[in-house]
Amino acid sequence: MAEVAAESQHVPSHTARTTLFLAAMRHFARARREQGLTVHYRRLGQHAETTLDAALEADLKRLQPRQLCVLQPGEHRVQGLLETACRAGGTPLEIHEDPHFLVPLAAFSEWARGRKQLRMEYFYREQRARLDILMNGDEPAGGQWNFDADNRGHFGGQGPGLLPEPLSFPPDAITRECQQDIQRHLPDLPGQDEAFDWPVTPQQARAALDDFIAHRLPHFGTYQDAMWTDQPWLYHARLSAALNLHLIHPREVVTAAEQAWRDGDAPLAATEGFIRQILGWREYVRGLYFHFGGEWHEWNALGAREPLPSLYWDADTSMQCLHQAVGQTLRLGYAHHIQRLMVTGLFAQLLGVRPAAIHAWYLGIYVDAVEWVELPNVIGMSQYADGGRMASKPYVASGRYIQRMSNYCQHCAFDPGTAVGKKACPFTTLYWDFLARHRDRFARHPRTALQWKHLEKMDPERLQAIRERAGELRKSLAKGDRI
Ligand SMILES: Cc1cc2nc3c(=O)[nH]c(=O)nc-3n(C[C@H](O)[C@H](O)[C@H](O)COP(=O)(O)OP(=O)(O)OC[C@H]3O[C@@H](n4cnc5c(N)ncnc54)[C@H](O)[C@@H]3O)c2cc1C
Ligand code: SF4
Repeated sequence: MAEVAAESQHVPSHTARTTLFLAAMRHFARARREQGLTVHYRRLGQHAETTLDAALEADLKRLQPRQLCVLQPGEHRVQGLLETACRAGGTPLEIHEDPHFLVPLAAFSEWARGRKQLRMEYFYREQRARLDILMNGDEPAGGQWNFDADNRGHFGGQGPGLLPEPLSFPPDAITRECQQDIQRHLPDLPGQDEAFDWPVTPQQARAALDDFIAHRLPHFGTYQDAMWTDQPWLYHARLSAALNLHLIHPREVVTAAEQAWRDGDAPLAATEGFIRQILGWREYVRGLYFHFGGEWHEWNALGAREPLPSLYWDADTSMQCLHQAVGQTLRLGYAHHIQRLMVTGLFAQLLGVRPAAIHAWYLGIYVDAVEWVELPNVIGMSQYADGGRMASKPYVASGRYIQRMSNYCQHCAFDPGTAVGKKACPFTTLYWDFLARHRDRFARHPRTALQWKHLEKMDPERLQAIRERAGELRKSLAKGDRI
């Protein structure tokens, strides 16, 4: 096992993300040694090699193994580094299926073969039936596969009220040492880790799961899309990083949720909504990542060219929704799904940020970011840069969506209902501009025609004014002006 600077620098990795990865590695190594296994471990700053392939090449030379066996890496780049080191050392490399998932890659390929469209919903239904999860015989529990319609609530004017505090895992001595090593050897990483409290061992991950099932799962469904000022966790599980670091198996998570429903402790809609995220979305995006391989990095279906605005690195903006979502991200390395999709992701898409630039930000900035899950979510779901391979239409909306799902707009300098003038909400301005810019592509498409129809009703002079304002916004943000 090797801690190398390059893994935190190839995209600038949030301090908390780096702490979490190193802490999970060091705890894992300690547990293996306690089992009596030999672990060759290189600590950050205590060896000369700064890249994974250089560290591995040196160890292969030193240890002369017959072969190197690894589980399927979660990033093509990392697999490339392993291959390079093995080639240089003349060591055969054997890659095994990663058992920390519910759907083997071969099963995904089988499902995908011959299909024109790879939609999550059909994949998810098949997996539910195949693995007998939330099923009553051959039928889905409750007679329907999907309870999405019940899962789009918001907190209304009165807000979320008293929220259950999630279980917290303050750094122990091992984690504190990681933090010190990072401060010493990687002082320029973005983000803060003063509030670090993520599970870093399998025992802690299990405790986090139990806490979620007991206190937040029952409301997860209803409020999974809602946002609220200064409330990062709401009813979310905080389990993605533990899952991605293999601290807990998705089967354990899904089984615990199903059991809570069968015991009458959680409603079916919430349980189905949660299981859909893990058995559906999580397994599906992994399958897609490997299915399309390196192609993901090349796609830019909407021809986006803008640089990433500096506000993504300092949260310095009057746009309250972005100030909240980015500020929380820099503080915690966490934002929930809708903040990622419909605030930071939406703004980048409406503005037309280069897919490679927004991908690099997401890959470095979230504690749970690993390329197999981050890349399809960003390039496919959030930016539509894959041209619809993943989502049947772009997830675009005006500031009105954010107004409905949060209280951000109440504290904002802008008005979500206005597209031109001093108070114009940049989301709303850029939304109409997006519709106009991509009219040819979407106006006649059966899935999008209805949304684009609104454009036809708009007075051309007004549309012209909106587009001019959008151009000014782009220029200002590219220059680094504060908006
Ligand atoms: C633009 C964008 C980028 C994202 N990048 C990542 C990433 O780098 N790593 C990551 O793990 N998730 C990513 N997601 C998915 C999702 O936002 C996070 O998994 C979730 O916010 C993690 O918080 P939680 O554990 O509290 O999740 P909850 O909201 O409580 O959901 C439960 C679990 O479902 C899984 N899940 C939910 N949605 C997705 C999804 N779309 N894809 C895969 N798994 C999902 C996660 O494992 C999560 O722990 C991204 C989503 C978007 C829109
Ligand atoms: S008015 Fe616009 S910029 Fe302000 S919080 Fe609402 S959506 Fe965001």
